[in-house]
Amino acid sequence: MPVTMMCPRLTCRAVLRVPDNVRGKRVRCAECGITLMVPEPTKPAPAKPKAEAKPKES
Ligand SMILES: [Zn+2]
Repeated sequence: MPVTMMCPRLTCRAVLRVPDNVRGKRVRCAECGITLMVPEPTKPAPAKPKAEAKPKES
């Protein structure tokens, strides 16, 4: 599953989608060309609470 990250450069802020096999490595922003580190997964994503569509009634 690809990693979606945002370019840290304030003037760029491009959303980059990189394959997850580059985690822990450096990739280059396609927009501004800076090199940035792809963060490694530190912990498994928390289980998503199921947002049940309940009618809101008080
Ligand atoms: Zn950039």
